[in-house]
Amino acid sequence: MTTHEQFADDLALYALGSLEGEAAAALDAHLEECAACRQELARLEGDMALLALTVSGPAPPQRGRQRLLKGIGHEPRSLRTVFIRRRWWTLAPVFASFVLAIFAILLWRENVRQRDRIEGLRADAAQNQTTLEEAKHLLALLTDPSAQHITLAAAQSKPQPAGKAIYMAGNGALVFMASNLAPLAPQKTYELWLVPMHGEKPRPAGMFRPDPSGNAMVMMPPMSPGVEAKTFAVSIEPEGGSPTPTMPLVLVGS
Ligand SMILES: [Zn+2]
Repeated sequence: MTTHEQFADDLALYALGSLEGEAAAALDAHLEECAACRQELARLEGDMALLALTVSGPAPPQRGRQRLLKGIGHEPRSLRTVFIRRRWWTLAPVFASFVLAIFAILLWRENVRQRDRIEGLRADAAQNQTTLEEAKHLLALLTDPSAQHITLAAAQSKPQPAGKAIYMAGNGALVFMASNLAPLAPQKTYELWLVPMHGEKPRPAGMFRPDPSGNAMVMMPPMSPGVEAKTFAVSIEPEGGSPTPTMPLVLVGS
């Protein structure tokens, strides 16, 4: 005759998947017909899962852990019985199961973290790609010889040479565009100058020749960062440029 007293020890091992052979078969058969033991098994399985989460989970379920610890302390038919009656080596599979369960949860959490990181990188790359595409379109427009450059001036006034410099002192980035420039004599060049804020002598900022329509552009010449500009100016110089601007200036910023 089987009663559930004799299965009390085995239930905890069974919950961990560590009960084998005849003992497991006998408990299987008993569980078929004993609701009390099925309930006890379900409770133990719940406690195992909660314990594993308590060790590594983001929000320790205190209530579940206390229930398990209380169960071990006061409940003669649960884990306490197992730990007292079993010799240590019979518990090796129990610890192995615990370690595996905790390891599996840690791996799962690491996977989730890696997946979030990869999705973040993917979003960054997509954003960079979009920015790069926009920059390419802008650059293509500014540098394409077939693009139309139209200078607008006060109506009924004769278009005069004009230029616009866009400069960022912090990193020395510079774009300069000019229009309505007179054609150059051979062996001559236009030269752009940065006039520093604090009275130093003008610094060369690129040489250029206009296209047949009188348009010209200087894009990102090599400049030292951190030089505040008072203004920019353009002069005509011998081919190869000059150390200082030759007067008179063709264009000068206000
Ligand atoms: Zn039973």
